[in-house]
Amino acid sequence: MQYYSLQNPAHKVSFETAVTEGMAPDKGLYFPERIPQLDPTFLKNLHQYSDQEIGYEVIKEFVGEEIPEAQLRKIVADTLHFPFPIQKVSRATYALELFHGPTLAFKDVGARFMAGCLGYFRRNSKKPVTVLVATSGDTGAAVASGFYNVPGVEVVILYPSRMVSTLQEKQLTTLGGNIRALEILGTFDDCQQIVKTAFLDQEIQAKRPLTSANSINVARWLPQMFYYFLAYRQMKAAHPKLVFSVPSGNFGNICAGMMAAAIGLPVSHFIAATNSNDTIPRFMQTQEYKPGRAVPTLSNAMDVADPSNFVRVLELYGKNFPQLAASMSAYSFNDKDTARTMERVYKEYHYMLDPHGAVGYLGLQQYLAEDPDATGVFLETAHPVKFEDTAPKAIRDEIHTPAKVMSLYGKEKSSIVLPADYQAVKKTLLQLEFQNSELSH
Ligand SMILES: *Cc1c(COP(=O)(O)O)cnc(C)c1O
Repeated sequence: MQYYSLQNPAHKVSFETAVTEGMAPDKGLYFPERIPQLDPTFLKNLHQYSDQEIGYEVIKEFVGEEIPEAQLRKIVADTLHFPFPIQKVSRATYALELFHGPTLAFKDVGARFMAGCLGYFRRNSKKPVTVLVATSGDTGAAVASGFYNVPGVEVVILYPSRMVSTLQEKQLTTLGGNIRALEILGTFDDCQQIVKTAFLDQEIQAKRPLTSANSINVARWLPQMFYYFLAYRQMKAAHPKLVFSVPSGNFGNICAGMMAAAIGLPVSHFIAATNSNDTIPRFMQTQEYKPGRAVPTLSNAMDVADPSNFVRVLELYGKNFPQLAASMSAYSFNDKDTARTMERVYKEYHYMLDPHGAVGYLGLQQYLAEDPDATGVFLETAHPVKFEDTAPKAIRDEIHTPAKVMSLYGKEKSSIVLPADYQAVKKTLLQLEFQNSELSH
């Protein structure tokens, strides 16, 4: 499969180049040159396939010949090695729980799949590549865990000191091995700015080739199609009119759902649920794209004013607005509604939402009020314990901490503390030695 840049459709690259570069040199996002179609008998018999078989069938055309079948099957198996259960919450409302992975958020799937692909592409290179990433919390944790011990790949994570939750900091700073955390005395924007500058720095690129694990990377975006197939398999028999409500920030996840529908999954409608960062709900009302400034909310992984993947959504619908509007509704919810919903759903249905899932739940209820015949799945994208500090008082004490993260609290944090200064970070980057820099294959 070839991928073209959305800035210039004539610029086409292989899957390997798209994964390694992340973004086209003209700063366009990569997009597959054609939409493969799944075999209808595969869809009809979906219940006979394992998670891993479904993942392989769904992704194989997007990868093409560039990764041999046995390798790709292994990468998919390593990606989908935890459950994706569906829980009924209330009338016509089901939660697809995407938080049973190692870092308790759905970004584990994309990060693990990308790590597998990059590890494969780097298998014969003498020089390791360094994945450089800035994080406000969730992305860094998923990337650290996904790339841990991948031969030929070293990971440097920049995070703003004291601005990530305790659990997130432990996830970033306790792995060791090929993972290093730089604790920046500044904001997330400072971290992101430093990372952008580093990518353009020829001296660094010559000594320590850099790549990004940004969420726009096709290897992080496309495997998110898996969720929708796994949900459909669990829902299929009784629910012909299926809609998905996706709590959205950068719109990568929902766009993967739309791609799943484009290759053949029967989905009747998508709901993009946002917090107060409502650029897309406003766009759907006015057809004017006017990103403002991001405002902080309870569902902070969705505090995005200018969602990078929305250009992919538009591309998928051929920039045809009526068609997009027929397939997707978009609603925005504020923090007050989010917190109230978390309390109410726990009280009435005994289901514990995280703030992102709560936004998805609200989006689904609003849609069901307009279309009562539908059955909806909302995506529960993170475990509530990740946002314990800001949970409404009434439910905070009820949040249970999964055993696999309990042990993290006892582990020693290891980070390099640096000022928010490019030269200081550069010097450290050029000198960093990794414990396992003698990589075995
Ligand atoms: C990243 C994230 C989102 C937003 O997903 P997008 O693909 O950026 O729309 C939602 N919930 C959680 C918990 C996240 O970490």
